[in-house]
Amino acid sequence: MNPDMRAFLAALDTEIVFGQVAVRRLERGFELRHESDRSAAADNLTTLKGTELRTWSQQAAGGAFRPLKSAPNLRAGWRALAADSAALELLLHYLYPGAVADWFAAQAAAPPITSYRQFTARQTGMYRITTMLQDAIAGAAIRACCHVDFCLKRRLWSVEGLEADAAGAKSLIPCLEPCALLLEFARKVARLEQNDAPPSEEPQADAAEGDFDAPSNPRRKRFGLEKQALAAKRAVE
Ligand code: SF4
Repeated sequence: MNPDMRAFLAALDTEIVFGQVAVRRLERGFELRHESDRSAAADNLTTLKGTELRTWSQQAAGGAFRPLKSAPNLRAGWRALAADSAALELLLHYLYPGAVADWFAAQAAAPPITSYRQFTARQTGMYRITTMLQDAIAGAAIRACCHVDFCLKRRLWSVEGLEADAAGAKSLIPCLEPCALLLEFARKVARLEQNDAPPSEEPQADAAEGDFDAPSNPRRKRFGLEKQALAAKRAVE
């Protein structure tokens, strides 16, 4: 067994909630279910096998694709059984790829955290523009993109002027460096800032999670609120 899983099992006394998933020890093996189904009768839940669970996790209610597995929109109504730790590791990987390894790495004396500036400095091509965001705007973009409404990972990295997420603010799953979605969002914000485009006033239904070209994208709407808060703060300084 690898050290990540050994540590995870040591932390799992009878039950642990990891992201939106409750993992329980059984007399033999483990059971996983959505945390909102913790007290549901097993007979009322659909038992999913490994690849079925992976497929289940790829879509939100209504059928929308989930570009970010740590988004708080994992559907409930299922349970999955793991006969041993290797099977448990695979199920957790389907639900939250790499999360157990990151959880373990975050407990090191010096966790391998990459800041926004370190991360964007390595970017080439069309993502180089993300280096141009001022700290305050980068902070607003990060607050919007990583908001608890959109992602349950606890952000350990940051940018000047922005605190990392507090323990207990989101979930046990850490975020050690900006993800691809954050990078794409920062690129969009950099473009918007270049054009100084005002936020859309028109009420519209939310666009798809990863569609940052749409003004009605939930993260773009959130970014508009973060910018308003930033402007209000600057006005009183
Ligand atoms: S960068 Fe933000 S949105 Fe992406 S996984 Fe980390 S916390 Fe979540």
